[in-house]
Amino acid sequence: MPTPTTTLTLQTPVGDLPKIGPTLGARLKHLGIQTISDLLFTFPVRYDDLSIITPLAHIQVGEHYTIRAKVELLANKRSPRKRMTITEAMISDETGQLKAVWFQQPYLRNVLTPGKEFLFSGKIQADRYGVCLLNPTYEMAKSETLHVGRIVPLYHLTAGLTQKQLRFFLSQALPVARALEDWLPEDIRQRQQLLPISKALISIHFPENHTELTQARQRLKFDELFFLQLKSQALIRLRKSNRAPCIPFRQPTIKAFIASLPFELTPDQKKVAWQILQDLEREHPMNRLVEGDVGSGKTVVAAIALRQCVDHQNQGAVFAPTEVLAFQHFQTFQHLLSASSVRLALLTQSAAEAFPHDATLTSLPKNKQRKYLLEQILLHNIDVVIGTHALLQDDVKFSKLGLAVIDEQHRFGVHQRKILTEKSGDPHIQPHLLSMTATPIPRSLALTVYGDLDLSLIRQKPKGRKAIETSLISDRERPSAYHFIDALLEQGQQAFVLCPLISESDLLGVKSVTEETENLKKNIFPHRRIGMLHGKMKAAEKQKIMKNFFDRHLDVLVATSVIEVGIDIPNATVMMIEDAERFGLAQLHQFRGRVGRSDQQSYCFAFSNSWNPETRERLRAFTETNDGFALAEKDLQLRGPGEVYGVQQSGLPQLKIATIGDRELIEAAQTEAHALFAQAPDLSSAPRLKNHLDRWLQSLHLE
Ligand code: ADP
Ligand code: MG
Repeated sequence: MPTPTTTLTLQTPVGDLPKIGPTLGARLKHLGIQTISDLLFTFPVRYDDLSIITPLAHIQVGEHYTIRAKVELLANKRSPRKRMTITEAMISDETGQLKAVWFQQPYLRNVLTPGKEFLFSGKIQADRYGVCLLNPTYEMAKSETLHVGRIVPLYHLTAGLTQKQLRFFLSQALPVARALEDWLPEDIRQRQQLLPISKALISIHFPENHTELTQARQRLKFDELFFLQLKSQALIRLRKSNRAPCIPFRQPTIKAFIASLPFELTPDQKKVAWQILQDLEREHPMNRLVEGDVGSGKTVVAAIALRQCVDHQNQGAVFAPTEVLAFQHFQTFQHLLSASSVRLALLTQSAAEAFPHDATLTSLPKNKQRKYLLEQILLHNIDVVIGTHALLQDDVKFSKLGLAVIDEQHRFGVHQRKILTEKSGDPHIQPHLLSMTATPIPRSLALTVYGDLDLSLIRQKPKGRKAIETSLISDRERPSAYHFIDALLEQGQQAFVLCPLISESDLLGVKSVTEETENLKKNIFPHRRIGMLHGKMKAAEKQKIMKNFFDRHLDVLVATSVIEVGIDIPNATVMMIEDAERFGLAQLHQFRGRVGRSDQQSYCFAFSNSWNPETRERLRAFTETNDGFALAEKDLQLRGPGEVYGVQQSGLPQLKIATIGDRELIEAAQTEAHALFAQAPDLSSAPRLKNHLDRWLQSLHLE
């Protein structure tokens, strides 16, 4: 075994540290830790300040505490369907008592000896089982763990790895941190008043006090934001050095197209369309993100761009995250583009269709249709292809792809976007990229993670839209809600019912699509036409149901979150969300966005029986505002910046330590990155930084 202090470097595998054999190595790998660098850059998710112990009499639901208490009773139970072991303990101090609950840790019975005192640390929860401390960490209460000022780091763990082990490994890796030469140029470090990297890495894991911890976080956040900025700058330069088809604006075509639309564009739609059309004229690839709340009318803006593209004999592609949305776009674009005789195709995992109708295609056996359609695309007998991830496969080749539209782009990953850029049909040319999203990303965050995208905003909704009336409904109020809804159905309006699950399951009391469909048919709306839709259905069946609902052959559609994004049925005015507490604000807002898409008054009913205060607050926020941006802010407040609204799914590199609340640091990082690039775009003025950045970028690619 090598002697640690002399031979270890950031690149050394963690397996070279003492006490890490193959088993632990595999567990660490599970956490993304393979090298010493990975280990040092695995930051604590939280710290316990063991100098602050809260008496049980002072605890409040929803907060984190460290409690010093005696175990009075301990018992293992099985969950109702016997899938899980639940360990319950009654713990007490001089001021009160409390229940503590752990899942799937039966061995605790051998650890938490009744009569002994422990330090417990965790969050106080309240649910139908009452108030309890859920899955707290625990440690024998010895006098030395209590010495004042001890701040203990806590990490995300995986099975078979304890906080104590991880802390031990980190302590072994500290010599590497101590010996690190800083990669940040000294002048930047001075200007931004940042700790040296070695000091920051040591303090983030083993802070002596809060000041030190704050300074360490500041430095590490800066690094993260700064690297992201450098990466964006590099990507922008790269994009500017790439070529794209130049697609000039032809006024008569676009004018005629806009005149053919069944509505007048909003000023924002016009503005954004114009920005896109100008981008298409350039010979460098566009990379633009259109951000607009649900129902703001992003699709038609994409159609304008596609129209322009086809006018110049370029092909277009439209990507949707779900098959159901791809079907819908196929329909919508038929309506929007048919007058311009654009030839469309639909290509998903299981569907291959063309518009206008292609007799050869439909006469072929199912298993030959895809191949035939691929040939047609390559022969440029198709202008615009609409599809799902299936479009990313290698065998999908274009003759001349000029524009790729990515709808609901937060559902796609970076590498998927990259595949697209290689599909133009000419290795020297990249298609223009237009992404669309309803995820309202605060500007400071957009600056960071979307640094290489140009941003367009659609703020207004089309004229005549009424605010959706949202109410929170308990079981007691359910009958009157149904009564109200039935009256709307009677007038020919339509309703969605959203359920968390497809079929009955272990989760007692959670509604499923199949059960709820039966229930509604039998007991609630026996005189209405009710259909159901979920992800496990065959593609053709899904398509048929969506079409039936669109053509008003169904009054009610019971569905899972397959309808979460994009679905547009303007005649549907009611959205019922079952077990609403199971969804986050971003999802709830997307569900609600399925209605309110015409000038009719629409309604959203969030059904929930949860009395958990946090849940109530979230649901209350949901009923009180219709504005996606305001909800994003609220989400930020309720859940903290780490988990903000929709960003989780954005498919972009996750921020490990910086947050979107760090506005000043974001701006500082941007300014410094610009300055450095202006000085020397190849970063030759800061070789150590370049080295480190390259490694960092490499590690991102490997993910
Ligand atoms: P999203 O931004 O959520 O993708 P869509 O593009 O699906 O929204 O548009 C929502 C609905 O609004 C569609 O039925 C569309 O036809 C309609 N729409 C779009 N723009 C306008 C407009 N300017 N005036 C009236 N209706 C519009
Ligand atoms: Mg949409």
